[in-house]
Amino acid sequence: MRYFPTPYPDELLGSLLIRACHHLGLPPRALVRLLADGSSDLVFLYPSFLRGLSHLTNLSPEDLLLNHTVFPYAAIGLPTTKRLVLERELLMSTARGNSVRLRAAFGLHIENLSRRRFCKKCCVEEYSQIGESYWHRRHALPGIFVCPQHGEPLCISSVSVLPKLSTGNAKLPQEVVGNPVDWGLDMDGMQRLAAAVLEATELPAETWDHVTEEYKRLTACFDFEHHRQRRWGIDPMVLEFSRFYDERFLQKTGLALSSIGSDSWPARLVRGARPAMLLQLRHVLLRLFLKF
Ligand SMILES: [Zn+2]
Repeated sequence: MRYFPTPYPDELLGSLLIRACHHLGLPPRALVRLLADGSSDLVFLYPSFLRGLSHLTNLSPEDLLLNHTVFPYAAIGLPTTKRLVLERELLMSTARGNSVRLRAAFGLHIENLSRRRFCKKCCVEEYSQIGESYWHRRHALPGIFVCPQHGEPLCISSVSVLPKLSTGNAKLPQEVVGNPVDWGLDMDGMQRLAAAVLEATELPAETWDHVTEEYKRLTACFDFEHHRQRRWGIDPMVLEFSRFYDERFLQKTGLALSSIGSDSWPARLVRGARPAMLLQLRHVLLRLFLKF
């Protein structure tokens, strides 16, 4: 078998594809022919070419999916039956329909969430140690706005995560520029949130089968006050939630509250609603708040 790079720890497959282009001196279009597994486009964020990459890296498609794609994040909030369907569809590369779902999961309608993110310290360290930097999966997850390793705010590049890989965007962190943005959260808040995202990706899959019961138990402490305040159209849990997260932060992440009543998204999430847009980040924010 010919040479092909091995994925680094926590490297996105999109990053591996870009490095392969660099190492082999091939444009993305030529790499598609080399991978030849029936998939059509090389993409940065969505899992693709799992079978072709499995063949070239000697890692199983399941291993690649779990350790080098955003699948564990996309599976947050999904009952095990739906998680299995998503897993199977991604493994079979029928990702066309899933790209819409993943687009919603990653909040790609929001400018700052739609661009590739990197940590300057990771980039400098990797470049000096291994001669190249790479795109980390963790840095691509909504809610991770500081590097979990260095605690530094992530830089946002001008490169979109969406289009298929081309000569113009097949770039590694050392080849792009970017700056941190203000997410409306202080450093402590960003670090707590990043830890909560990682924790949510590592929870046992069954957690989400019983999440409504868990939320009901955790929100039971708000019940006493609830009876007093219900007539004013205020849900005490949502009121506390709105005090916990800065309004600016909720706006910047596309999760502003429409009200502090029982029709707002945190109250509906507790009751078992499954909104398509940013479902995963909503669960992370609610869990972090309820457990704090
Ligand atoms: Zn870092």
